Parts: sequence; structure tokens; C-alpha cells
Amino acid sequence: MREKTKMGEATTAAANVNKQPSPPHIVMLPFMAHGHLIPFLALARQIHHLTNFTITIATTPLNIAYLRSTITNSSNQIHLIDLPFDTSAHNLPPNCENTESLPLSLIVSLFTASTSLETPVNNLIEQITADEGRPPLCIISDIFLGWANRVAEANSTVNISFTTGGAYGTAAYISIWQNLPHRKTDSDEFHVPGFPDSSRFHRSQLHPFIRAADGTDDWSLFFQPQIALSLQSFGWVCNTAEEIEPSAMEILRKYIKKPVWAVGPLLPPEMLGTSSPVPISNRHSGRKSGILVKDCLDWLETKEKRSVLYISFGSQNTIGETQMMELAKGLEKSGKPFIWVIRPPVGFDVKGEFKDEWLPERFEERITREKKQGLLVRGWAPQLEILKHSSIGGFLSHCGWNSAMESLSQGVPLIGWPLAAEQTYNVKMMVEEMGVCVELTRGGKGEIDCEKVEKIIVEVMEMEEMKMRAEKIRDSIRVAMEDGGDGKGSSLLALDDLILKLVSLSTL
Ligand code: UDP
Repeated sequence: MREKTKMGEATTAAANVNKQPSPPHIVMLPFMAHGHLIPFLALARQIHHLTNFTITIATTPLNIAYLRSTITNSSNQIHLIDLPFDTSAHNLPPNCENTESLPLSLIVSLFTASTSLETPVNNLIEQITADEGRPPLCIISDIFLGWANRVAEANSTVNISFTTGGAYGTAAYISIWQNLPHRKTDSDEFHVPGFPDSSRFHRSQLHPFIRAADGTDDWSLFFQPQIALSLQSFGWVCNTAEEIEPSAMEILRKYIKKPVWAVGPLLPPEMLGTSSPVPISNRHSGRKSGILVKDCLDWLETKEKRSVLYISFGSQNTIGETQMMELAKGLEKSGKPFIWVIRPPVGFDVKGEFKDEWLPERFEERITREKKQGLLVRGWAPQLEILKHSSIGGFLSHCGWNSAMESLSQGVPLIGWPLAAEQTYNVKMMVEEMGVCVELTRGGKGEIDCEKVEKIIVEVMEMEEMKMRAEKIRDSIRVAMEDGGDGKGSSLLALDDLILKLVSLSTL
């Protein structure tokens, strides 16, 4: 595998004769979505912290600009490289390089367009190889960018696939895309290859795009080959901890038949109970928050411990118009204090202005000024600071993996309202395996009424056992991510092991 390099080295080695050997280099390729960029950057920081290797993250210019805005001096060892990307060549509007800036109907075009990065990435790896006299130690690519395996092979290095999701969600997502098991039965319930026979999935847990997929649609034509290519990687890295998903790790390993290193959940140190020179607010400095962190924290200070429900649907999703109305009514009826990140409902520009008519009459006035029951935050909230506050007692979430881990890392149980991607599977796992979540509804059209909202809010906010289970997961996460003190946790040891394997491979 390394032959080509060794021959190439003969010429470049002479040019490098007076130079100190450069540290090993790792090139990382995230998919262009907020929930993928953040864990990639966190993994880059973690590897750099452990090894001092040179790390390069390469992606499209606007995504690089976003990452740059979140990086401070302390992380200037992480190099950010723009890859040329022409949106107009892929049916994408100008300046739309991230799932967040696209309507649902165009997301598949972004997935398809991501394959055009193969040539620029190949050029980048060739350049690094020429400059440093050897290829990078490895490429770490998003599982959606399976073509990185071809680039790695062509450049005599190896590819590692990184899934930014958890083990259960990832295993279900890839198995369902590869096998389309729901197409093989008329029943609403079906078995997913790789999962125990006793485990049943339901058609309503599938996003409409997967439900309709038949292997010839644009979604299948992207996912099936990219996942198949990712299955050729040297191994996979998963953003979870062995301790919190033991059976799902087994399922994932058996299904993909590759080594899987559980190196997460990759969260800022403050979320793990330790301090960091990089304030957590920096993590999203590329986003304009709808509220000052201080105002949010001052409001939370006025509330009792574990009494407030936080509601947010992640970086890009929103709910239906009638659902929003029922949610508002149920929140008010529950009497529980809440912070709700509001965005225009499905069918409207999610980044546009929020109209009062989407909420019950005088809702904001009653809630915020008269009853002082809630805070409405427009667009984007400082989620980490909010979840970290001791007044938070529950999180009504779409259960994107980052949000789920951020919540559980604080011992905060969840109310699940999955909307897309692998979120329904995350919810299924957190309900059935962890017992830290109750599902309220599914999707932007799922049934919901204010009575059910009220009932589930009260149940989750008041159920002691659920809180205790969430706190147990919090403790397991902290043990897995322990660095120093009593020694290294399983996730750091897994990363050490991966690096050692890569280094020994490179010296073969
Ligand atoms: N986030 C935030 N403020 C918001 C909404 C989201 O800080 O108002 C952050 C959140 O902390 C998480 C990420 O955006 O780190 C969302 O990632 P997740 O995997 O939960 O969902 P996605 O956005 O990918 O659907």
C-alpha cells in the first residue's frame, strides 16, 4: 500500500535533506452540515491535543469560513483549506454550501454535489505528499464521503470513516439505506438487517425520502454507493462511548465488519465538567444568537433547579404550523417554565422573520411579560450554556446526536420529536435502551395535540427515575472522556489505539 510513496520519496527526500522531518499529517473531510463540522473540529482538536500531529480540515469555502470563525489562537495548529466548489454546477443557489442554507428539496443536490470534491481533495493530498515527502498518515472522512477511499488508495495512504452520529443511529441509518428493508414487506413493522430479531422498526420512523426510496431515486443513488465505499475504509470512528451504547457498538461492528473506535462523545470540556482555554461560546461564534448569553443565564437564575424545559430543533429543522400552535398551547397549559428557540414553520423561509400569527393570540406577551413563564429566542440560542445551567430539567429536542449528547452530558432527560436523518433511531435507542427519553411525535406532520404535549412535559420533568438514568449516562460520558486524574477514559484510549495503529501502518 505504501510502495508508491517510498518510490516517490526518493526524489522528494533529497529536496528535504536539510529539513527536520515534519510531524505526521492527518487530513479531515467533513460533510457540509453544521452537525458534522462541529464534531469534526472537536475530533481534530482531540487528535492534535494527544499527538501534536499536523491536522488539516478541508471543505468548501463557506464551511471553512464558518470553521475559521469558531477557531481561536489556541487551535491554530489546525489548518483549514478551501476546496473549490461551484454551486451553480450542481443546481444549488449561490452561497449555499451547507444543509442549513437549503430547503429540504435541495438537500439531495448538496449530497450529490459533495462527490465533486474528490478531484480537489486528490490534488490536495498530492500537494501535501510532494511538500512533505510522504503522504498524510491518513484521511479521516465523513461516512457520506466514501469516495475518500479512492483518494487514499491512489495516494498510498489509508482512509478512516468518521460517523458523527452514535452507534445505534449510524447502524440503523446505513443498514436501512443499503437494504431498504421496508420495501420487502407490506407490514408497517420490519426487521433491519444487523439488528437483533426482536428489534422492530416502524415505517413512520423513516423519513419520507427513505420511505419512497427504491434504489433508483437520487437519494439512493447517492447513499448506497457512498456507504458501500465507506465500508472499504481501514476502520470507522464513532462519536459515542463504549459505556453508553455497548450493544449498539456490537451491532455496528458486526454489521460493517470493520474495527470501530468509539472516541466520543466529542463535547467541549466545559460540558464534561472540566475547564478549557476556549470558551464554549466560541463554538458557535459564526452564528448570531437571538439572545445575549447573559440575558438567558440571568433569566435561568430566577428559576428553580431542574425546573425549566428547553426546546430546540437543531441547526436546520423546524416543525409544522399546526404543530407549533399545539406545542405552544401545551407548554402554556403545563405551567412549566421554558426556553423555546422559535423559527418559522415548515413551508416558510426558516431563516425569515417569525410572525406572531404562528403562535396563539397574545402568547408571547402572556408568557414572557405577564406570567414570566417562558423565553422565546428567535433563530439561534446559546444551547450549550443553556443546557449547562442547573435550572434546566428537560430538553424537548429533535434528537440530533449532538443535541442528545449535550443534554445527556448534563444529566438532562429528553422529550423526543425526531424530524430527519437518523433522529428517529436515536430516539428509539434513548427510549428503549437508555430509558432517558419519551417520544412526543415524529416529523413535521406527525400528530400532536396540546393535551399530549402537557402530559408528556409533566411526565418527563417530574419523573425521578428518568432523571437518575440521565445522570448515570452523564457520569458514564465523563468517565469515558476522562483525560488525566484517574487515568484515561475508554474514548481517549480508543483514540490512542487508533493513532498507534495508523503510525505502525505507516512505518510498514
Ligand atoms: N445549536 C445551538 N443553538 C441552536 C440550535 C443548535 O447552539 O439554537 C447547536 C447545538 O448545540 C448542536 C448543533 O447546533 O451542537 C446541532 O446539532 P445536532 O446534531 O443536534 O442537530 P442538527 O442541527 O445536525 O440537526
